[in-house]
Amino acid sequence: MIILLRRGAAPADVQKLREDLQNRGFTLHESTGTLESLIGVIGDTSAIDINTLQARDCIERISRIAEPYKKVNRKMHPDNTVIDVRGRKVGNGSLQIIAGPCSVESEEQIISTAVSVKEAGATMLRGGAFKPRTSPYAFQGLEANGIDLLKKARDITGLPIVTEIMGEEDLPLFEDIDVIQVGARNMQNFKLLKALGKFNKPILLKRGLSSTIEELLMSAEYIMAGGNSEVILCERGIRTFETMTRNTLDISAVSLLKQKSHLPVCADPSHATGILSLIEPMSLSLIVAGADMLEIEVHCNPVNALSDGAQQLTPTSFSSLMQNINKMADFMGRNIG
Ligand code: PEP
Ligand code: MN
Repeated sequence: MIILLRRGAAPADVQKLREDLQNRGFTLHESTGTLESLIGVIGDTSAIDINTLQARDCIERISRIAEPYKKVNRKMHPDNTVIDVRGRKVGNGSLQIIAGPCSVESEEQIISTAVSVKEAGATMLRGGAFKPRTSPYAFQGLEANGIDLLKKARDITGLPIVTEIMGEEDLPLFEDIDVIQVGARNMQNFKLLKALGKFNKPILLKRGLSSTIEELLMSAEYIMAGGNSEVILCERGIRTFETMTRNTLDISAVSLLKQKSHLPVCADPSHATGILSLIEPMSLSLIVAGADMLEIEVHCNPVNALSDGAQQLTPTSFSSLMQNINKMADFMGRNIG
């Protein structure tokens, strides 16, 4: 970290700054010029709150040199993290496909969808039991009953199950869930992230609607700082000025996250675009960008879906998408599963 001192700063203030930093264990390297003076702060500065430090009168500006995230940083862990989900490896170069409905709606719906996505080649099943809906009057999910139905679908198909948690008070219901999803709206629910840090399950952490890549990495850092190193980062589109798509898919984030972090990266073309005809071209692009995993919404009867009907593929169109995903995976030298 580099601190640029304010011109004409009181020597006593600068001395106090030096002492405070040294007392916190940092080594200082100073460079005094005729116009500008700098203090280089050497050590693990990730716990320094720049905004607090900035309040000192003697400081003009502070620049971080090291990233504020450590545990998720590839510099600290050059090898890819590989997460085992019931024998399927996430992050080892293979491609995992999570498919299933936006919401679990009934036994017939989840089982029928699960059987067809399995047949088409999906490697994991998704389905929301707790639904974060913009309107309190919209379908909120089957909650505990939805979790039981997902387990039933897993028993029948053998597919690991991925489902979203909305609050830490529901954690006991997630003991037997294979991958716990943190939705975009909860990416910065720090209490939930801390609780998941103490929970021994893989976490699929979705990027917040208006969150930067660094904020996503810092949220993953929360989970890892708590002791849980099984985090999968997920790009699901961000809010921009564009209105023709539901969100703007940030494909570059996928490649960048792979460079910055050793954690596996997932991408969700369904929520990112909200448009059926874009799901295939975006899925293929995301494979090229290096995604370890795709999450795609599929419903046995999208017209009657209780949430996100317009963006859910039918089993038939998912099956044809899987054929092209297979070709692209082959071309890129990736195995599915
Ligand atoms: C979902 O995957 O069901 C979901 C609500 O996604 P997001 O949190 O990305 O909006
Ligand atoms: Mn959805």
